[in-house]
Amino acid sequence: MTADLPASQISHAPLAGVIGMPIAHSRSPRLHGHWLAHYGLAGHYVPIPVMPEHLAEVLRVLPRAGFVGANVTIPHKEAVLTLADTVTDRAALIGAANTLIFRPDGKIHADNTDGYGFVANLRQNAPDWQPSLGPAAVIGAGGAARAVVASLLDCGVRELRIANRTRLRAEQIKAEFGARLVVYDWAHLGNMLEGATTVVNATSLGMQGKQPLRFPLDALSPDALVTDLVYTPLMTPFLNEAAARGCRVVDGLGMLLHQAAPGFERWFGQRPEVDDQARQVVQG
Ligand code: NAP
Repeated sequence: MTADLPASQISHAPLAGVIGMPIAHSRSPRLHGHWLAHYGLAGHYVPIPVMPEHLAEVLRVLPRAGFVGANVTIPHKEAVLTLADTVTDRAALIGAANTLIFRPDGKIHADNTDGYGFVANLRQNAPDWQPSLGPAAVIGAGGAARAVVASLLDCGVRELRIANRTRLRAEQIKAEFGARLVVYDWAHLGNMLEGATTVVNATSLGMQGKQPLRFPLDALSPDALVTDLVYTPLMTPFLNEAAARGCRVVDGLGMLLHQAAPGFERWFGQRPEVDDQARQVVQG
């Protein structure tokens, strides 16, 4: 029976997808579909709506159905860690995975590429950015912020300031990531900008339909690089304000594109390029 064969012995085009709930809004199928067509590769990438109570069962079945891997999004990014057979150090440190690889023997390998995507986006769009030049300020302490913190520390940032509406979550990140972190109070968010050379909004504030992220930017240096993980809209009110102060700004769409590239390469055998075409496909 095909269902009992390892994925390597199933001779149809590789399948991958994105597991989440809700998932209809995801832009990942459009992006991976574009790359598959662009490189003339056999394969399919589909949205996979899964309720939390069905996650374990679905993960067991997907490799037997020809899936070579999957992206994982809300609300499953943490739960997959407990269901995977192997977890990379960075996914374990972040406490969440967004990329799964189904091995030929059916074993599930979990990784987190959000931090990679975050840094690759900055390197591509601000090539002269030097993370070790001065303190970084990260606003937010959710799952995405954890990936950003891990990657900035990896890049050699010596002081990383963090603030979150729920201060405890920021304190927890400091407890896990160590002495280079300094927790700032949400009520005095503007203070963390003093001398900061990298400033990141890792909250969901500024998204379409949400309040903007607003706090005093008087201490923001025009030499700082400012980026926002929110990409709907591309130019958030926060990025607009920073740009008006003369800062170099980088929107969050490139992070979405770059975090997808390692999974695509593993599943379909081709490192995809993150270029204007890919950007437009995802925006369209
Ligand atoms: P999450 O785990 O739910 O964290 C949400 C964060 O936003 C927390 O820090 C939360 O603070 C804060 N927040 C939410 N509403 C707030 C409000 N009204 N006032 C102050 N703070 C508020 O979500 P996540 O996965 O980290 O994602 C955060 C954002 O990054 C989302 O907009 C997501 O779409 C975006 N993102 C983008 C990419 C990309 O590729 N560009 C990748 C991942 C995520 P509390 O802890 O106090 O609730």
